[in-house]
Amino acid sequence: MISQMQTTTKSQHLIDLEEKHGAHNYHPLPVVLDRGEGVFVWDVEGKKYYDFLAAYSAVNQGHNHPKITKALIDQAQKLSLTSRAFHNNVLGEYEKFITELFGFDKVLPMNTGAEGVETAMKLARRWGYEKKKVAENSAKIIVCENNFHGRTISIISASTDPDSYGNFGPFTPGYVKIPFNNIGALAEVLKDKNVVGFLVEPIQGEAGVVVPDEGYLKTAYEMCKAANVLFIADEIQTGIARTGKMLACDHENVRPDILILGKALSGGMYPVAAILADDEIMLCIQPGQHGSTYGGNPLGCKVAIAALKVVLDEKLSENSEILGEILRKELRAIKSDIVTTVRGKGLFNAIVIKEKNGKTAWDVCVKLAENGLLAKPTHGDIIRFAPPLVITKEQIIDCARIIKETIETF
Ligand code: PLP
Repeated sequence: MISQMQTTTKSQHLIDLEEKHGAHNYHPLPVVLDRGEGVFVWDVEGKKYYDFLAAYSAVNQGHNHPKITKALIDQAQKLSLTSRAFHNNVLGEYEKFITELFGFDKVLPMNTGAEGVETAMKLARRWGYEKKKVAENSAKIIVCENNFHGRTISIISASTDPDSYGNFGPFTPGYVKIPFNNIGALAEVLKDKNVVGFLVEPIQGEAGVVVPDEGYLKTAYEMCKAANVLFIADEIQTGIARTGKMLACDHENVRPDILILGKALSGGMYPVAAILADDEIMLCIQPGQHGSTYGGNPLGCKVAIAALKVVLDEKLSENSEILGEILRKELRAIKSDIVTTVRGKGLFNAIVIKEKNGKTAWDVCVKLAENGLLAKPTHGDIIRFAPPLVITKEQIIDCARIIKETIETF
């Protein structure tokens, strides 16, 4: 039995199929979804839920946004993949659009977030050797404790979470790990002349939506500048309007040297990731030195253009900022001794749950699902609330009611 939640024969059959034939690298809530639209998803029995995870912030534009779906279908019927052995007639259009939107000279397209992070780390190292003149094979990248940047060997080498790195060694060298939100620790490690980059999530997502002190990013950025170190922002989860601005770094007017995007860059329609940087940095990589068969494919490019336009046209940053305030106010009004913390920015939020009578955040999420709202615990005691950003004020108030009524039963 996967959990105590009631499952019907149909969904149980599908859960059993996954259990028997799929690797056990996830532990999902026992809900089997087969349809989505906007902020809602439906399970195979036809039960409707608010999606309060939005595929870890990949579906900021809402499920099956008609404009993004149309872009996908139209392009799929024309040309899906050329590889980069040849030019295609969409890549340049996408590159112009995204670089002008975010204000960088160049973009390097990839597919998944982890590939984006790998690309950023490779680029930073290369810049370190070619521009900063760091001695061969000596480059170091500063990362923060409790980070989450993906699942490749090099990325987990930078992780401090035993679930991520345990028994996957040997690890990639070249990282310096410091506490998040700690300027003093950063100052200390920036003294090392071999440091080429500081890789940071502006708000730590998987760690449980950990928001740093105001001014942290700005000060860290300025310290990196002074030390000739690249400030690398992993905005894969915080970016594309999630926190109430297009980028979480925008809250402090920080323009990263390397910006990493993924997830909502395609509105959940297709794996699309990218890194952006100026010529001085990006042109350190030359033909043949990095790439991906699918990176920059016309299908992904058209989907990403459509997904970004939806964010702008529908003012999703503004909606996220306004509704985030409302949600946190409602969550803070919940009268329950099991909620110890409410935190977040825009519609990127989390509550911390104190175990009571053997009931944990997992049990709260199971109950929330029964009451029509899907959320997932992280690290055992934290529940992230990150709905699609197309959610309305009425819907957010309805969701806050579901959360309140659910939690108050514990
Ligand atoms: N970086 C951050 C901040 C993330 O939240 C994630 C995924 O959750 C990743 C990187 C990895 O992205 P992907 O799962 O697409 O490889």
